[in-house]
Amino acid sequence: MIERLCLIGVGLIGGSLALALKAADACHYVVGVGRNPDNLDDALRLGIIDAASHDAVAAVKDADLVVLAVPVGMTESVCRSIAPALDPNAILTDVGSVKGSVIEQVTKAFGAVPPRFVPGHPIAGTEKSGARHAFASLFAERNVILTPLMHTDPDAVETVQRLWLACGAVVETMDYAKHDRILAATSHLPHMLAFGLVDSLARLQDSDEIFRFAAGGFRDFTRIASSDPTMWRDICLHNRDALLQALTRYEDDLARLHDAIERGDAEVLSEIFTRAKSARDQLVVDL
Ligand code: NAP
Repeated sequence: MIERLCLIGVGLIGGSLALALKAADACHYVVGVGRNPDNLDDALRLGIIDAASHDAVAAVKDADLVVLAVPVGMTESVCRSIAPALDPNAILTDVGSVKGSVIEQVTKAFGAVPPRFVPGHPIAGTEKSGARHAFASLFAERNVILTPLMHTDPDAVETVQRLWLACGAVVETMDYAKHDRILAATSHLPHMLAFGLVDSLARLQDSDEIFRFAAGGFRDFTRIASSDPTMWRDICLHNRDALLQALTRYEDDLARLHDAIERGDAEVLSEIFTRAKSARDQLVVDL
């Protein structure tokens, strides 16, 4: 389907996408763009990319698909550099965890959103970073959300949709603001809680002893605090309003829990835990 894919950012997500497309025979040649030579060497050695480049401008020439897979805060500067070299017929897409800001940055860089830009976000990942952690099955049976705009070329949307389907993903289309609200609640907020909790405990005087006795529950809850700090810094800065809303709502609920514990209110505590257990049990059944 795709002759030449230019992958800007050959990390966990970009690398996994390239592997999945190759495994599905949906892409013939991948040129990977990055800054760190060791990461690009890993990507070449693992067959993720066929050629490596530090020069995004040269790499996008002749590409029929360009995928941005860099931290979301890099979008504008990368797009500014590739804009003059990008073939108007090429499809541009991204995998960023925030959609409103990415669309805004692409608009600033190109002067207007290119009609063949298809914003996207695979709801799949791990706490690991870099090409060496990429794997072809990462997107199998996972959701991918596309947030095309009114004037996005339907043909470009369909191609990107087909590429994700070839990776085994389930594709949904959604308004970008709705995407950012939902992801703030289900992904960005939990990451804040995990980062915040681990940092808070790590700064206690007896943190070594506390962590020594951490059981499975603590490990499960905090796994995502091992995620890449740059990526998460960018997500916070670029989904600020939706994340603040989700945080405020959670702070209010936490305050109610605090209050119930302080008052020894067994009824309220049972009510909250029963409601949460039922929601979580149902979620696991649905997944
Ligand atoms: P990653 O493994 O750290 O990969 C990001 C890559 O971007 C790095 O290999 C880095 O390589 C490269 N990069 C950074 N700045 C660059 C620049 N200016 N030009 C070219 N390459 C650059 O991160 P990831 O997890 O794949 O995340 C990539 C994107 O996917 C992010 O936007 C993130 O929001 C989104 N996402 C992540 C997950 C997840 O769970 N991890 C899930 C869904 C979506 P160099 O240092 O060599 O440049």
